[in-house]
Amino acid sequence: MQFIDLQAQRARIADKINAAVMKVIEDGKYIMGPEVKTFEAQMAEFSNTKHALGCANGTEAIALPLMAWDIRPGDAVFCPSFTFAATGEVVPWLGASPVFVDIDPRTYNMDPAHLEASIEAVKAEGKLTPKVIIAVDLFGQPADYPAISAIAKKHGLKLIADSAQGFGCTIHGKHPGHWADAVTTSFFPAKPLGCYGDGGAVLTNDDETAEIMDSLRVHGKATQSDIEGRSFEHDPKYLNMRIGMNSRLDTIQAAILIEKLAIFADEIEARNRIAARYNEHLADHVASVPFVIDGGVSVWAQYTLEHENRAGLQAHLKGKGVPTAVYYPIPIHKQDIYSRYPLGPGGLPVSEEKAERVMSLPMHPYLDEDTQDQIIDAVRSFNG
Ligand SMILES: *Cc1c(COP(=O)(O)O)cnc(C)c1O
Repeated sequence: MQFIDLQAQRARIADKINAAVMKVIEDGKYIMGPEVKTFEAQMAEFSNTKHALGCANGTEAIALPLMAWDIRPGDAVFCPSFTFAATGEVVPWLGASPVFVDIDPRTYNMDPAHLEASIEAVKAEGKLTPKVIIAVDLFGQPADYPAISAIAKKHGLKLIADSAQGFGCTIHGKHPGHWADAVTTSFFPAKPLGCYGDGGAVLTNDDETAEIMDSLRVHGKATQSDIEGRSFEHDPKYLNMRIGMNSRLDTIQAAILIEKLAIFADEIEARNRIAARYNEHLADHVASVPFVIDGGVSVWAQYTLEHENRAGLQAHLKGKGVPTAVYYPIPIHKQDIYSRYPLGPGGLPVSEEKAERVMSLPMHPYLDEDTQDQIIDAVRSFNG
């Protein structure tokens, strides 16, 4: 049994993917080929966002808006600690400081009340300047964007949705980009929308942010606005207007993603059906099953439950051939290298408690009922 069975999806669309990859190889436009633009347009449409830009991975996707907004030493960026390290990692790249915020005990996503208390504490202390909030759609479910975006507006902060696990999630039918100034995602193979290697994207409704990020991902190349009304002795292609980086989505990966996006809505439905079935059969047997925010639809990157005897349950399941995983055993602020950065007032007791109790069961859109029954029976037969 697989924790995430990527080959099951491949079996469904292998012919299409093989043909799409071969076409890119034969066309020879390996960097920024036409498939990249096509995929970006489809992604923007899928999530009802004005601009989508492919980039090299979901980590650099978070760096791009921070760079576009000129985040620098002395700036504070508020983010959860109960997440994959990449969320907080990009902030020190720019010399800025992450400020770690606790989570809601039911959704595992950023706690808006603690966010606001953290912003106020940083303002009162006066050492750092609050600039950006990075909310995470952990395990695939949308963060509380209505509440978080209201706090961002009130304090004049930008909001990034780190939707590496959550691309496709919604609240009352609206994607995170409805609230966030930028939405980032990852196409790491195991994410809900994954490619066959590394890849990422950043989305925004703001024209200027999009134009600057497009420049930054190609070494700070001149944008249309940079060039307008000026004349050049040399090809402006080689004008570098800002310190950028090389962060592009490969054409081959874009071609693969076009085929995967075509079945993504159907897969999200399947994931929700499977999650509902887990909930129905496990709710009475574990300390907690996932709780999704009111009006929210998760894309179920993970199906995560809690148990007082997590190690015992994991060992029991392993004995029955059921793979499990713990996301995340160490909150970022508990890692030595991150311990120098500030925490919101009162610390992060919920993040620390959850790190000891959560575990995830196999979850992917092609988990058939027989296999799921095996998993459910295995959990229900644990008496530890
Ligand atoms: C996977 C992940 C990232 C980073 O994506 P990569 O493509 O691996 O760089 C960032 N944030 C979260 C929450 C993730 O799960």
